[in-house]
Amino acid sequence: TTVPSIVLADGKAIPALGFGVFQVPDDQTRDAVSTALQAGYRSIDTAKIYGNEAGVGQAIAESGINREDLYITTKLWNDDQGYESTLAAFDASLERLGLDYLDLYLIHWPVPSQDLYVDTFKAFQKLKADGRVRSIGVSNFTVDNLERVIGETGEVPVLNQIELHPKFNQSELRAFHTGKGIATEAWSPLGQGTLLTDPVITAIADAHGVTAAQVVIRWHLQIGNVVIPKSVTPSRIKENFDVFGFALTPDEINAIGSLDDPAGRIGPNPAVFG
Ligand code: NAD
Repeated sequence: TTVPSIVLADGKAIPALGFGVFQVPDDQTRDAVSTALQAGYRSIDTAKIYGNEAGVGQAIAESGINREDLYITTKLWNDDQGYESTLAAFDASLERLGLDYLDLYLIHWPVPSQDLYVDTFKAFQKLKADGRVRSIGVSNFTVDNLERVIGETGEVPVLNQIELHPKFNQSELRAFHTGKGIATEAWSPLGQGTLLTDPVITAIADAHGVTAAQVVIRWHLQIGNVVIPKSVTPSRIKENFDVFGFALTPDEINAIGSLDDPAGRIGPNPAVFG
């Protein structure tokens, strides 16, 4: 299976489907990532705060896959924001991952109360200029946060990783991203599993002879998102990758889009978190 790529504004390509490891304990991460790499995933999404960069690194080292064929993302945690502390945190993450460059580095949360995300992004620019990271982006940024980074650094983050699933589909933020050439990456793309019994989704799954998780992943891909579902169950890891043998119709895409709910957010609100 060849996973389609999305070309970022800096010219680099990111696989549209990757594997997330939030809440996977470090000692289980090596096995989960090894299973994912064997299933065909080449993009892995971790973060310093997940405490499992070392497990990701072990699975990469054991995989025998060429570094250039992998796409590795990690994230800077909130208490490491600031110019010098960002440079140090990056070195520590790369060391735990056992890598000599990173594909994508993200500011995990804006934390507006700290007011350090602009300085942090300036450190990201330095890391990119030094060739240590290929692409630099953000996570959980609002329109206001993005406009401020763009205005004060002159550089557009290439990607914003945000909570996004059928019950919280972020249509306004996605439209803003499109206007600025920012790629949208969906976290908790399956609503942490809570969406998978929704009757609209299960009816579409039955019509295609696929699972509800496969329908939701397919929806993300067809609306242009980068998507990073998580599982530690080998059969589900494989199932979530097996989404290239069917396509949703425009009516089905619209029906899933209509599940959007103003109360659908699962995670923290970035305007006040941190
Ligand atoms: P998710 O939406 O990917 O849901 C994962 C859960 O769904 C699993 O634990 C399991 O319970 C269920 N599931 C997965 N596959 C299934 C299947 N085929 N059938 C039935 N149930 C299935 O949730 P997530 O882990 O929160 O999000 C995915 C990734 O996004 C994370 O691992 C992480 O990498 C990233 N993330 C980022 C942030 C951020 O702030 N940037 C926050 C949360 C998650």
